[in-house]
Amino acid sequence: MTTRPDSQTQLDALRGEIERRNPAQPEFHQAVHEVLDTLAPVLAARPEYAEPGLVERLCEPERQVIFRVPWQDDKGRVHVNRGFRVEFNSALGPYKGGLRFHPSVNLGIVKFLGFEQIFKNALTGLGIGGGKGGSDFDPHGRSDAEVMRFCQSFMTELYRHIGEHTDVPAGDIGVGGREIGYLFGQYRRITNRWEAGVLTGKGPGWGGSAIRPEATGYGSVLFAEAMLRERGEDLEGQTAVVSGSGNVAIYTIEKLLALGANPLTCSDSGGYVVDDKGIDLDLLKQVKEVERGRISDYAERRGSSARYVSGGRVWEVPADVALPSATQNELDENDAATLVRNGVKAVSEGANMPTVPEAVHLFQRAGVAFGPGKAANAGGVAVSALEMAQNHARTAWSPARVEEELARIMGDIHTTCHETAERYGAPGDYVTGANIAGFERVADSMLAQGVI
Ligand code: GLU
Repeated sequence: MTTRPDSQTQLDALRGEIERRNPAQPEFHQAVHEVLDTLAPVLAARPEYAEPGLVERLCEPERQVIFRVPWQDDKGRVHVNRGFRVEFNSALGPYKGGLRFHPSVNLGIVKFLGFEQIFKNALTGLGIGGGKGGSDFDPHGRSDAEVMRFCQSFMTELYRHIGEHTDVPAGDIGVGGREIGYLFGQYRRITNRWEAGVLTGKGPGWGGSAIRPEATGYGSVLFAEAMLRERGEDLEGQTAVVSGSGNVAIYTIEKLLALGANPLTCSDSGGYVVDDKGIDLDLLKQVKEVERGRISDYAERRGSSARYVSGGRVWEVPADVALPSATQNELDENDAATLVRNGVKAVSEGANMPTVPEAVHLFQRAGVAFGPGKAANAGGVAVSALEMAQNHARTAWSPARVEEELARIMGDIHTTCHETAERYGAPGDYVTGANIAGFERVADSMLAQGVI
């Protein structure tokens, strides 16, 4: 498909304008560029999308909230953090996306995540818009009581911006079942409403969906499997390198084991573990989920098959499949070159934007199947949307039913990305396929709903 030069010129001008109007937000620029770089063919083919203002509106959040979060630690000292909620796009449904509690959180990070979320959520085929939020609060080393007081203070402002039909937060890095519990409790107390659908990732006894904790990791592995199937292979007997040791990494490892693959690694900010016998899931869950410890503890307790590499890069471990499941920009061009040299066949992004753009291009040039996070990690938010559906119906589905739905949704996302890439002359390019397919769905709704 040829690209009309005016589409490319329009996109280049917009790119410059976004950099100028959003200074010092490199991650947001990166996320926007990555999408704009793939849209020229669709703007050229479908003139209605080139309508002035459409892509500009898509790149500007509908609403951005920044607020003070004061709280007291166990010694009575006052701390002041900053809270964010970026409500990016609601053309397809209520804003939907997680909350991240991590010291690196700032407006640019929340905007990159919110922007990605629009396309990811559109790809699920469900009725959810895009949003994201969080705080620069660091939960590490904090007692349960401190985390509770922080969450209560955070919700004391956030509650006025969210609601089951408005904006539905969930977890992300640093926000799991414990934090969602404290946040939900405070929301319920302030509003005097049992509004289960205002948050997802709730506990199983009070409105949470089965398989929600597992969904992102399971989905990312299902996406890797679908990409391999396209090439006449599957995951059985394949070695895998996984980064991270949070919720996404743990359930990625669980699903790899279930499908007969051999996950060799996990990591945290201190280093990585390589386990020649394959990661022992029970021990990893004990160390990370029960004790909230470090993965160096895993290596100490595992015995001779495991080694802890302090400060090392997990990508130096040779494997057939790579599943970056920690955080943004964790896999650079050198890492990609190492993985390619070691014969990697597929990369599936469990984290949001973990692979730098040069590394993505390197994988694609080398013929490695590359599944971008928007598609590969959409299983988490998809099951969040299923949790909302269960809450609205005041019912709870069986784990088997949710898992079946998750598998169907991931299969559909894979097919959509694959077919869209072919339709736009980029066969096998899941980045182009995901961006264009997500864009088409959101853009059609925005056009139908007028200039708002
Ligand atoms: N934080 C997850 C994501 O990046 C899940 C969001 C949700 O469930 O709303 O997609």
